[in-house]
Amino acid sequence: MIPLSIPDLSGNEARYLQECIANGFVSTAGAFVPRFEKMVAEATGAEDAVATASGTSALHVALLALGVRPGDLVILPSYTFIASANAIAHAGSTPCLFDITPESWTLDPKLLAEKLENETRRDGKLVIHKPTGRKLAAILPVYALGLPADMDPILSLARHYGLPVLADAAAALGARYTGRPVGRLGSDLSMISFNGNKTVTSGGGGAVIGDNSELMRLVRHLSTTARTGEDYTHDLVGYNYRMTNIEAAVGCAQMERAEGLVGAKRRIRAVYDSELASLPGVGLFPSPSWAEGACWFSGLTLAPPAPEPEHLREILRESGIEARPFWKPMHLQAPYLAAPRTEMPVAEALWQRVLTLPCSSHLSADDQARVIGVLKKALT
Ligand SMILES: *Cc1c(COP(=O)(O)O)cnc(C)c1O
Repeated sequence: MIPLSIPDLSGNEARYLQECIANGFVSTAGAFVPRFEKMVAEATGAEDAVATASGTSALHVALLALGVRPGDLVILPSYTFIASANAIAHAGSTPCLFDITPESWTLDPKLLAEKLENETRRDGKLVIHKPTGRKLAAILPVYALGLPADMDPILSLARHYGLPVLADAAAALGARYTGRPVGRLGSDLSMISFNGNKTVTSGGGGAVIGDNSELMRLVRHLSTTARTGEDYTHDLVGYNYRMTNIEAAVGCAQMERAEGLVGAKRRIRAVYDSELASLPGVGLFPSPSWAEGACWFSGLTLAPPAPEPEHLREILRESGIEARPFWKPMHLQAPYLAAPRTEMPVAEALWQRVLTLPCSSHLSADDQARVIGVLKKALT
């Protein structure tokens, strides 16, 4: 079976894990955690990074640090993994769901401008969402598939309205936007995930990255039970969200090879794109001119005369090849059916057409050729 995407752990992962066992540092203390944070900050161009237990927990503490409070609304593209919406709910707030652009599958800046203009009013410094009467507390763009959203117009709107921006850059380590790495795009904070299905993994884990030292200190404090010193004194309701040394050991070994892992993902995407582009009914994953995505997943979109994604998936499975559907938008998910939202023509036309294809960073050229051969036969 050629799997969809599995991690490549052939570097220093085992050696660093052995070190943790040998020196006894298996929990949140230990040298790998700060080392990992430094590597993540350097790779993303951010001043600082705080390692967390997951990407979801990173989003949660980042939202709290940015001042999101119960009852607030947070602007979120509907086309994302449910963790982005869940983190908003964990903060006691509600996602205000937006459609995406067909060119990028990320938050649509024009739609954002229009809704902020027509559906909000100022109340002192607050921005009130008129249809619900609730406070808009932040904007959470998602870098879908590791492709940065069109951040310059989004950030200029955020500044105009005084709204903080937290970027969900879960799978975007290594991506660039107008030449800049994801820690240099201007968001107040950003989040990276190191879950096992991401290009660079620590098994489970995440990181908040940012430049504002006061905000980053608060993120660190909240994610480590808000302890004020060596004694058991805590000054806030904190969280046990710190990454462990074992996870950071794997993370450090992966970060040493991050450029190569992302480079492999990009090469795999480029081969699929050039081999599949001309097949009838086949569309490619987005690659707008303003960004160089991290190509977390490869795949295609299918429209008539191509078969339904589920049918093609079955054909691939019979040939020993794993393929999968991708995200179902948040406005169609049970916990968020009642969330305020825009019209969703783009997300709704898109999501059921997507099929992801084998794209492990160590996928061999032979295996990829086999996948392409089966696809060509099924689609022509
Ligand atoms: C993976 C992912 C997350 C969640 O990260 P976890 O580490 O699994 O908690 C959040 N948002 C997006 C867009 C993701 O792809």
